[in-house]
Amino acid sequence: MRLRAHHLLCILGFRGLGYDEKFIKGMEMVIQKIKKNPDLKIRLTEGCDDICSACPFNIEGFCGNEAVGGEEAVRRKDREVGERLELGARKEYGIRRILNLIKKKIKPGDLSDICGDCPWLEMGYCEEGLRRIDKFLQEDK
Ligand code: SF4
Ligand code: SF4
Repeated sequence: MRLRAHHLLCILGFRGLGYDEKFIKGMEMVIQKIKKNPDLKIRLTEGCDDICSACPFNIEGFCGNEAVGGEEAVRRKDREVGERLELGARKEYGIRRILNLIKKKIKPGDLSDICGDCPWLEMGYCEEGLRRIDKFLQEDK
């Protein structure tokens, strides 16, 4: 599976909402695949990933969503998350290791720095997702 580093945080906070039906289904598929395969390897991307591939804002492989700042801002977010977790782009990591690192290195209060003005932040689901990270692999969404 290919994921942008900041999407490692978004999947924790996903509560069935999204940009359109296709996007929501895509998110659900990604999350279910992870939950069914806790030994799954995630390859971190430097651009669009398996979540972006179902997103209406994916314009020829670049993020065109101005509400989240567009491709440049999204890549900054990916770099920020990668640096905090000490994980490199274009490398593969097991999902359990990634979740353990997130638990140790990223706290709910860090999201305002990492995610900037992402419109989903104010709903509180992403912070809640971090607080419930221990249950992520067990819970059905
Ligand atoms: S606030 Fe936005 S970028 Fe941050 S984890 Fe949530 S959905 Fe992802
Ligand atoms: S908004 Fe941008 S980064 Fe987020 S899923 Fe869509 S294309 Fe990818």
